Amino acid sequence: MAKEKQPVLCSFCGREKKETQLLVAGLNAHICDSCIEQAHAMVDEEFGAKAPGASGKVELIRPVALKAHLDEYVIGQEAAKKILSVAVYNHYKRILRPKGKEVELEKSNVILVGETGTGKTLLARTIARILDVPFAIVDATVLTEAGYVGEDVETILTRLLQAADYNVEAAQRGIVFIDEIDKIARKSDNPSITRDVSGEGVQQALLKLLEGTKVNVPPQGGRKHPDQKFVEVDTRNILFVAGGAFDGIERHIARRLNAQVVGFNGTLQRAEQVESVSFLPHLTPQDLKSFGLIPELIGRMPVLTYLEPLDASALRRILTEPKNALLKQYKELFALDQIEFTIEDEAIDFLVEKAMEFQLGARGLRSICEALLTDAMFDLPGAVHVTLRYAEEKLAVLQKAS
Ligand code: ADP
Repeated sequence: MAKEKQPVLCSFCGREKKETQLLVAGLNAHICDSCIEQAHAMVDEEFGAKAPGASGKVELIRPVALKAHLDEYVIGQEAAKKILSVAVYNHYKRILRPKGKEVELEKSNVILVGETGTGKTLLARTIARILDVPFAIVDATVLTEAGYVGEDVETILTRLLQAADYNVEAAQRGIVFIDEIDKIARKSDNPSITRDVSGEGVQQALLKLLEGTKVNVPPQGGRKHPDQKFVEVDTRNILFVAGGAFDGIERHIARRLNAQVVGFNGTLQRAEQVESVSFLPHLTPQDLKSFGLIPELIGRMPVLTYLEPLDASALRRILTEPKNALLKQYKELFALDQIEFTIEDEAIDFLVEKAMEFQLGARGLRSICEALLTDAMFDLPGAVHVTLRYAEEKLAVLQKAS
């Protein structure tokens, strides 16, 4: 009798060949594509997925691990952390993959939408620190078209070069955070903006940088050093993260959503019914366009995400939880003088209350802590114990002064 032919199986998971996409044969065993992937993930986890960059090393960190790192420094903002982790992973994966592949992977520049002091800069800065790549922050409002008063867009790269200690290779895989991107709006789409049409000129100039081009960069920046030799910087692998408050964007999204509701099933949603709901998760690129960003620019920053305003409990956590939380920093500062620093829970609650009053997001926390502790940092007593009464007393002074 003829021997029945045994089906070929994956020796690890037992799947039949036809259930897999690929079955690799070894000496006495087979392994399927999904087991290869799993094994690969285990190797990565054990040894870290290190891959050499164009020069030096960029460590490729998987999105889950990136987000876990971000969690140590940034409170809340789950959506932004997740989306940014994926974008950054894809960006560096794209840089590190072998040359000559047919499918071209496009850049994943990012736009972060969120009120001031919600952690936009902190997110970008933390990512750069985790990856150990050069990082520069530029304010979009100081940029102008070449020939106008202000800074040319090339000076963005000057900052990055400086952050990289003039190591061009390192700068070329750095991260740039462009703040206040919403303030270079094109006038015609946003009547409340007082800027002239140079807003659109700046956007046009930014397009090339974002997309990837070779730029002659004045290493000292500005126009004050006419004799400096230009340095050529290729922006193809630089990750641009833009941030903006886009004031009123929630109302805009709400209006758009309402319009859709009316359009599709004829029911009218009343504004007051949805007042407490956040509309930011429904943010689309289309919403930015009505703020005067030109479609080409929005197209060059395809990853869009948002940061929620921080509530009292988030502010409280920011004071105490992150690795370099403000209160931990003061504790450390005092400890350097062998001074023990403690603060009562009620006093922390009071600081948070004040920060909410100032409406500066987490930004307000810093100045509040300074006001609270300046006297103690001046007198350097044997120990600093902050009670609610102490906090009320010190911050009353702050209010009189401001
Ligand atoms: P933005 O760029 O959104 O205006 P920043 O990132 O500059 O705000 O935040 C200002 C400061 O507030 C940061 O240095 C950080 O200490 C703190 N901060 C803001 N948001 C957060 C957050 N979500 N988690 C922890 N700290 C935060």
